[in-house]
Amino acid sequence: MAVMQVNIARLSEGRHSHQFEVTPADLGLGEPYSGRIFVDVDLDRSGRQILLHSRFRASGSFICDRCLESFTGPMEGDYRILYVPDGTSMPVEAVEGEVQTVPADAQVISLDEDARQYIQLAVPSKLLCRDDCSGLCPRCGKNWNTGPCSCDQQDTDSRWDALKKLTKS
Ligand SMILES: [Zn+2]
Ligand SMILES: [Zn+2]
Repeated sequence: MAVMQVNIARLSEGRHSHQFEVTPADLGLGEPYSGRIFVDVDLDRSGRQILLHSRFRASGSFICDRCLESFTGPMEGDYRILYVPDGTSMPVEAVEGEVQTVPADAQVISLDEDARQYIQLAVPSKLLCRDDCSGLCPRCGKNWNTGPCSCDQQDTDSRWDALKKLTKS
């Protein structure tokens, strides 16, 4: 049984909005998802075609690439799907998003599988606890977000001084 589905048998012409609030487990999602997932769906029926525009917000538990601290970050995105009844010819005009055929006598459309796939694509490839994360000292391992460490301050300064002398001469 789908957790997110819309009844299309009695969907009238024009726009309709649906809001869903689900858990990652509802959609078969595990790591790194945490908390609730919100999916706002707009359906626009035009004749026998239905255009879906879905926007989602989720959050995940991540490990920062730079400082290795765990943090919770947002993931969001949207996608469009044009549903056309099986047996009808595909729309000629270019469609933004993907096109799916549904059985001509379909009563409902399940949104779970598409939502699961698109939400999985939203996991960021670069994971930073914040944009200006200072990271760890490569020598002593201190988290520079919590303050500087003595060893690197001195080494970095002396290196910079040497460089300044070089560039000046
Ligand atoms: Zn970080
Ligand atoms: Zn250090």
